Amino acid sequence: MRIFLVEDDPVLVDGLMRILGQYKHAMTHESNGLRADEILSTQEFDLVILDMGLPGLDGSEILRRLRYRNNQTPVLILTAHDKVSDRVAGLDLGADDYLTKPFDLTELEARIRALLRRGHSASGANLRIGDLQLDTIGHRATLLGTTLELSSREISVLEILMLRAGRIVSKEQISQQLSSLNEEISNNAIEVYVHRLRKKLEIGHIDIRTLRGLGYLLEKTETI
Ligand code: CA
Repeated sequence: MRIFLVEDDPVLVDGLMRILGQYKHAMTHESNGLRADEILSTQEFDLVILDMGLPGLDGSEILRRLRYRNNQTPVLILTAHDKVSDRVAGLDLGADDYLTKPFDLTELEARIRALLRRGHSASGANLRIGDLQLDTIGHRATLLGTTLELSSREISVLEILMLRAGRIVSKEQISQQLSSLNEEISNNAIEVYVHRLRKKLEIGHIDIRTLRGLGYLLEKTETI
């Protein structure tokens, strides 16, 4: 994966380049905002990690220009702990996720994996995560090339989770989504469907994690 790191703190840059390089990502780095903007208008990346406070041009302006050019590359913004306004502005401008400094590198790795998966998961009507594929029109899911035996409710729940793979989905979101499809469903029923799906997916290294009080998170358990 091609990752563009826009950050002006040399210590952080050093650590990130080293860590992400280990994952065989092709890393490009720029510390000046204006130059980063130029690079983004001519080169393609799979992910941009963007600091907000930069010399030359602010991260928020770089992001605004990127989205104005209709470039939908996933962007993870890095914000200072006390700058809630930066975070809100960044997400409003189309950032996909954020991390607050100082952050744990394992946390960063997890966010990057989630963003890279999301960026490459959807192609037309097919959703794919690892060896799991879902045809959202034919309502058919295959895992490791074999069709899964799923009820239509299970397919609906799976689709909701796959569309938000790597992110937390609350039970409320699932039930709202289902009721928009005219499928009323109780929280207990959601738990049952998730439990069944988890069982059927585990052979393919796909996990649906339960985050107590928050919801569910579907992810590939192998590292990429
Ligand atoms: Ca900075």
